[in-house]
Amino acid sequence: MNIVERLKEFGEVYTDVPLKHCTTLRLGGEAAMMLHVSSLTALFSAHQYLLSKQIPYKVIGKGSNLLCSDDRYEGCIIRLDRKVHHHYVINESVWVEAGASVVSLAFALAKVHLAGFEWASGIPATMGGAIANNAGAYHQCMADHISEVLVSTPKGLLTLSKEECKFSYRDSIFHHQPDWVILAAKLTFSKGNYRDIMDLIKLRQQRRMSSQPLEFPSAGSTFRNFEDLSAWKCIEEAGCKGLRVGGAQVSLKHSNFLVNVDDASAMDMLQLIEEVKSKVLATCGRELILEVERFNWNKKMQ
Ligand SMILES: Cc1cc2nc3c(=O)[nH]c(=O)nc-3n(C[C@H](O)[C@H](O)[C@H](O)COP(=O)(O)OP(=O)(O)OC[C@H]3O[C@@H](n4cnc5c(N)ncnc54)[C@H](O)[C@@H]3O)c2cc1C
Repeated sequence: MNIVERLKEFGEVYTDVPLKHCTTLRLGGEAAMMLHVSSLTALFSAHQYLLSKQIPYKVIGKGSNLLCSDDRYEGCIIRLDRKVHHHYVINESVWVEAGASVVSLAFALAKVHLAGFEWASGIPATMGGAIANNAGAYHQCMADHISEVLVSTPKGLLTLSKEECKFSYRDSIFHHQPDWVILAAKLTFSKGNYRDIMDLIKLRQQRRMSSQPLEFPSAGSTFRNFEDLSAWKCIEEAGCKGLRVGGAQVSLKHSNFLVNVDDASAMDMLQLIEEVKSKVLATCGRELILEVERFNWNKKMQ
């Protein structure tokens, strides 16, 4: 049986899929295979199968933090958001599957009067991606809620405590263990009032709409903030606002958003990133660090 036929046991399989359809930057070459797993057990089994056959793979959530190259990816993209997205509330805790939408979870928690996740209501992520990146906003982050995380590893299943996840600024152990896949997590919140929770969600969303260029494809903030300084301030000071390479542009609304304004290639975006970095270094003496993750770039381009 060939690989595609075997993968069909774990869910729906597509071949030659443009990654620009799976990333919020709307960039990226084709992936040879894409598997939408049909359940949590299918995810675990597919992961174990791919590991055993040494087939390259990458789990993608909403692709909202990825800059995929224009090259073809000769491996299997695993996607969870179609079927592995359930959550179950038990008192003030929630067990949630890795493919669940962060935005949907924030609204679902409001309905059962659980407060604390309002900050996340505008982040276009899955829970798996948000946990791996320790996504955050308004001085809160995923680590504030995590109790435990269920993970598929080359040695089988593992349950990690919050401490074992080694969360730090937009980082966790999962970036350092590329062969681990987050299956589900237990998060804890506090009791709240539905109206208050919804008011805060609305406030957070309004602020995003007024400050972020949501009308263009992007991956959110492109560079990390410095401990003492926002990246957007350096980018503006370096005169990069509106700077353009091909179809990629530094947003006129928020300078840390590099947006795809006109069918940009991944190479346009990468060149723009490099140009912004060198102008900021020359003007402010600061070295910007990418927050966006580069995927499938050949070694010479790393
Ligand atoms: C408009 C906009 C606003 C944004 N605002 C914010 C913000 O306020 N705060 C913030 O922190 N980020 C923000 N982001 C960036 C992005 O949403 C986050 O980085 C998010 O955590 C990425 O989640 P994802 O599910 O899309 O993951 P992807 O981008 O698909 O993947 C990110 C990484 O996680 C890994 N991954 C995904 N799922 C799993 C899994 N199940 N197991 C193991 N690894 C996995 C991937 O392999 C990859 O390495 C924003 C992005 C956009 C486009």
